[in-house]
Amino acid sequence: MSFPSVMPERAPLPPNGTLPDTLTLFEHLADAVYLIDPDTSNIVWANRIAWECLGLTREDILNHSVLSLQKDIHGLPQWSEIAGIIRASDCYRFLGRHRHRDGHEIEVEVLTTSFEHAGRPYFLSVAHNLSRQLAQQQDLEDREKQLWFALNEATDGLWDWEVATGKLYFSPQLKRMLGYGPDEMAPVLDTWKLNVHPDDVADVLGVLSEHMQGKRARFDVIYRLRNRNGHYLWVHDRGRVCAFGPDGEPARVVGMVQDISDRKQLELQLQELASFDPLTGLPNRREANAFLDTQAQFCRRMDLPLGIAFLDIDHFKQINDLHGHLTGDQVLRQVGVVIKNTVRGSDMVCRWGGEEFLILAPNTALQDMHRVAEKVRQAVVDATPGLPMSITLSAGVSAAQGRAIDIRALISEADSALYKAKSEGRNRVESALPACQPD
Ligand code: GH3
Ligand code: MG
Ligand code: MG
Repeated sequence: MSFPSVMPERAPLPPNGTLPDTLTLFEHLADAVYLIDPDTSNIVWANRIAWECLGLTREDILNHSVLSLQKDIHGLPQWSEIAGIIRASDCYRFLGRHRHRDGHEIEVEVLTTSFEHAGRPYFLSVAHNLSRQLAQQQDLEDREKQLWFALNEATDGLWDWEVATGKLYFSPQLKRMLGYGPDEMAPVLDTWKLNVHPDDVADVLGVLSEHMQGKRARFDVIYRLRNRNGHYLWVHDRGRVCAFGPDGEPARVVGMVQDISDRKQLELQLQELASFDPLTGLPNRREANAFLDTQAQFCRRMDLPLGIAFLDIDHFKQINDLHGHLTGDQVLRQVGVVIKNTVRGSDMVCRWGGEEFLILAPNTALQDMHRVAEKVRQAVVDATPGLPMSITLSAGVSAAQGRAIDIRALISEADSALYKAKSEGRNRVESALPACQPD
């Protein structure tokens, strides 16, 4: 370390033990603290950080001029000018550079004040390391750039919801995904809610609310979101509460939306090609049609009756709306099990679509088919204690025998009978009109 050429005379060091007691507090400060003799500029006391942050020892700085630390003040004449200003002001602020032992510079903000103790004048300086702060600021700027990149260029759309105000930020990429320009889509929660598919909205809001209440670790849901043209995209939306208010309530939620329409399309196509419905595990409509064909051929040849029943859960939409789609799915699975367990092993139960099931019963005439459907209706009512809420279903049955079997007519008659059961109050079974029955 090099000292200034103008070395001050010996500083008026206070005798041991006469330093102000408050200096022990400064010993623990994170900023460098120096006690300076105003006349000579010598450091008469310094806390640990004062020499450590410069790579020096206590001996390196005690009784040496404070100018030796500086890069910007070069000699005593300049010091006496500054000392005059310090004496005249309450608190003198100086931005300068300290020199580290290894030669690098440290940007500092130095606050100095003057005071008297035991009849002697002193300057007390506190030097705050700005280099660390500048590095943190740089780091923050770098992070902001990364965030800007993520928000604007990432392939997934991002959102940021301020819960108290209802403000919802949509990233430019999210707007692009939905076909909107940068200045479109009002930044409020309703903009998003109103574009969620009506059949999905209860489920999506249910999952969000469960996450907000801490019942789910994250908001993670697949649903349909309307784009600018009115078409729906399948999206995978994942989010998380990232800040809480002083009351412990969620204050900010951020998330990411991924367009999975292509994947979903493929999934739906594959589902159509498959024979079984993935939700209930029952044969799907495609499989039921194939079974109907073979059974119709068999019953025609053997002159046997073939009965069918269409079953439709009553007010199922309300179940979804009130309890969410996941509960709706659970009900569908359980109703499927109840139907399957109620009919004969040789009968086929399939999920025809939505909340509709079909029973196909070879060698079963209309009256017997009616009885089967009635048994199923009752079994579903009886199963209610095992279900999340009371469930009923309505059924329409039809049957034909031998050569009279016409699959299209059977389906259409059962459908009309179901319509009648619905219009006559639901939770009931109706048979096709006698005119449609076999001779
Ligand atoms: P109704 O008594 O007249 O049959 O009334 P409903 O509410 O049962 O009939 P509607 O046809 O109005 O609604 C059927 C609902 O079934 C709408 C649809 O969202 C829901 N749904 C269809 N498939 C599924 C599914 O796989 N899971 C769930 N949770 N809901 C489904
Ligand atoms: Mg229906
Ligand atoms: Mg229904």
